[in-house]
Amino acid sequence: MFDFTYTTSSARIVFGAGSLRLVQNEVQALGARRAVVLCTPQQRAQAEEVAALLGPSCAGVFDGAQMHVPIESARRAREHARELGADCAVAVGGGSTIGLGKAIALESALPILAIPTTYAGSEMTPIFGITENNVKRTGKDPRVLPKTVLYDPSLTLGLPVDMSVVSGLNAIAHAAEGLYAKDGNPVMSLMAEEGIRALAKGLRAIKANPKDLNARSECLYGAWLCGTVLGSVGMALHHKVCHTLGGTCNLPHAQTHTVILPHALAYNRAAAPEAMQRIARALGADDAPSGVYALARELGAPLSLRELGMRLEDAEKVIDLALANPYWNPASIEREPLTDMLMRAWAGTSPQQ
Ligand code: NAD
Repeated sequence: MFDFTYTTSSARIVFGAGSLRLVQNEVQALGARRAVVLCTPQQRAQAEEVAALLGPSCAGVFDGAQMHVPIESARRAREHARELGADCAVAVGGGSTIGLGKAIALESALPILAIPTTYAGSEMTPIFGITENNVKRTGKDPRVLPKTVLYDPSLTLGLPVDMSVVSGLNAIAHAAEGLYAKDGNPVMSLMAEEGIRALAKGLRAIKANPKDLNARSECLYGAWLCGTVLGSVGMALHHKVCHTLGGTCNLPHAQTHTVILPHALAYNRAAAPEAMQRIARALGADDAPSGVYALARELGAPLSLRELGMRLEDAEKVIDLALANPYWNPASIEREPLTDMLMRAWAGTSPQQ
């Protein structure tokens, strides 16, 4: 029997290899004339390509996007956008660059056109994060949700295989937790299962040939689906533990998601049987936690927090923080099983059966 409330958020999605050529039309469709193009220093060349396609609709390029959106870079970007008289932000990059666009929109309500080049999914969420004094403040605001998202898989051809793999597993984590979300709904579950299927298939093909445009397209399609799930329903234990590890131990975002996911799923296996069945089916596996672990191993992803640089002595602090202010979770969150889960993830052993 169904019983749900579902609020859709509206964004225009333009998807396809070569769709970048439509960027000027899309900026104009937003009623904008002077776009500021945002990027990291590493993606300056891609941003210049976008600026050239925008022609007179481009007011300038700002290449100061940084991981975790430090408040200083947000202030500089806001100032730059004001000086240029920008009426739109075009964010070309991963979650960090799109996060910078969100930091601008939060104050100015400037519309964002996002051009994602990783699978992190930030472009489909109203969630923002800004880091000040080493603390990342996150929140939700409809003004930061991009108005248009242009997915062009050809822009992801140069994303290195190791980054593609962890970014894709990061996306799978959004969908996996969406399948057992307290506020989930049948449409999100369809998107989640399809997103996991597309990413598992696409990542295997990228591992074999990083320049396979069909595989890149499959992964970006999966990323769109998984990002939509992240933006629509609540996340649980897995995301809480990853955020705590990121903040406390300064571990890399996508890699941490990759390591934790099989263990968080094992924690919730008994409490969310239908979600587990759907995750396993999407992966073509018998069991969801072991299936995710096997996929990560097959793709050559990191399997332990130890190899990401986490010190064992920090485990207690992480557990205290995760217990202090837990997210809703299908299985109750308790110290002993949580410690066991974290120890397995730290060592990289297979998830609990
Ligand atoms: P990222 O944006 O930090 O990118 C990592 C590096 O890869 C950067 O140097 C970037 O320039 C480079 N890069 C990106 N795409 C490339 C490409 N196609 N080719 C070559 N290099 C490329 O990484 P991410 O994993 O996409 O984002 C992580 C950040 O996003 C975290 O801070 C995370 O908290 C945030 N995030 C936010 C949300 C949200 O809803 N607000 C969702 C997911 C992630």
